[in-house]
Amino acid sequence: MNQGKVFLVGAGPGDPELITLKAARRLRQADVVVYDYLANPRIMEHAPPSAERIYVGKQAGDHTMVQEDINALLVRLAEEGKTVVRLKGGDPYVFGRGGEEAAALHAKGLSFEVVPGITSAIAAPAFAGIPVTDRRLASSVAFITGHEDPGKSESSMHWDALAQGVDTLVFLMGMKNLPDIARRLVEEGRSPQTPAAVVHRGASPQQKTVVGTLSDIVEKSREAGMKAPSVVVVGDVVSLRDRLEWYESRPLFGKTIVVTRARAQASVFLEQLEELGARCISFPTIETRPPSSWDEADQAIRSISQYDWVLFTSTNGADYFLDRLKVLGEDVRALKGISLGAIGPATAEALEARGLRVDFVPSEYRAEGIIDELSPKLTPGTRILIPRALKAREVLPEKLAEAGASVHVVPAYETVLPSERAGEVEALFEAREIDMVTFTSSSTVTNFLQMFEGDRGAELLSGVVVACIGPVTAETAKKHGISTGVQPDEYTIDALTASIAAFYSKPS
Ligand code: SAH
Repeated sequence: MNQGKVFLVGAGPGDPELITLKAARRLRQADVVVYDYLANPRIMEHAPPSAERIYVGKQAGDHTMVQEDINALLVRLAEEGKTVVRLKGGDPYVFGRGGEEAAALHAKGLSFEVVPGITSAIAAPAFAGIPVTDRRLASSVAFITGHEDPGKSESSMHWDALAQGVDTLVFLMGMKNLPDIARRLVEEGRSPQTPAAVVHRGASPQQKTVVGTLSDIVEKSREAGMKAPSVVVVGDVVSLRDRLEWYESRPLFGKTIVVTRARAQASVFLEQLEELGARCISFPTIETRPPSSWDEADQAIRSISQYDWVLFTSTNGADYFLDRLKVLGEDVRALKGISLGAIGPATAEALEARGLRVDFVPSEYRAEGIIDELSPKLTPGTRILIPRALKAREVLPEKLAEAGASVHVVPAYETVLPSERAGEVEALFEAREIDMVTFTSSSTVTNFLQMFEGDRGAELLSGVVVACIGPVTAETAKKHGISTGVQPDEYTIDALTASIAAFYSKPS
């Protein structure tokens, strides 16, 4: 049988973008991923859905599998001919026991490769504004395990040398022994005034940093409730944080924001919020799927040339409708001579992405905007097609008809309630971890409420800030007794993001 191969891959410190291109490629090729506790499960998304995933634990105090068993597992999988990714936090060879796993494979004549990762020993300080070396302040740096009991007599650690001979000391796994570490360094000759920092969950939205000196870092860290996983940095470079801190000062850092948009549409919004430092909880309250019957839309498409206008009221409407054209053997040429309207810039962009020019976008991005600005242009009998969700607001077709148009609404998709994750999100609310919930359409509001038992949804919202994209969404929220705290003047995702940032930048 062909022998497999094991890739010892570093997953980086937590930010899912801080993995290497090679790590992502090895994950895509994996038959099996054997992984430790990961700060961010999104890293696993690089592996194909068909890949077997084996969790072997190894968070402090949670040794799901002992090291010998992990070694044996890797040997067995490689002998079975599998392509195995052994995924480890940070770098596999920095306090990751990667060397022992490689040695076990070597002993059996099995092949392996190492894909180094960004170690938390460097990344966590960097995200806290602390360079581990500096031309003036630190010419040397040591990575030290804090796991070893500094009190034990047979310690292999040269505390005197570390205390006196190395400029920057970075301790991993050091939280439990922090009092002993600080004491020992001072006993062995380091000044008690040496700056020291503890960085918890570095390079993640939950990062927390405490700064002090060797004489008070234990006290300060206890007061702040600092826990593992954290790195402890000791040395003059810590003082640079005053000027070099950049990550925790972003406008939305420390805020947890629930995004209720449909998964397919949420990515831009999530990215914008995360870029500003927010921790985002993606909680799609809408899923779209094709309408239960295409009959009406198909009929409209077959006689498309009879319409003067096609109006699109969402990117979904545009995407589903144009995909359907293709299914029926048509393409955008079928729309030649027909004027196209979009409710707002995102919908217009979806049309333009398909090579269509949009003739009309109202200056106010909602149905009322279309009515006010398009009605004067309509002559009696203007024929308008609106491909949209099965259930949607009726004001647009009604008002356009009142203005004299002949309006034909056809279902191009329908929205359904996703059945997932309400319990998980409810627990986050109960733990008071949520700061804000965002709604980007009326149906995200009503669906959110429906996803919880009875009045529970409204109750959960009463304790947090609610952000709505525009007046229609805010009105729907109000009808359900929910007051809106943030609402942009322009009804776009960009404007919503900007309003949220402004809301949290206000001095409170
Ligand atoms: N191989 C890993 C280290 C594994 S040992 C690496 O290179 O990063 C586990 C220790 O790493 C934790 O106890 C903690 O000290 C540190 N650590 C891991 N991720 C961290 C993070 N995001 N922020 C701070 N410390 C982290």
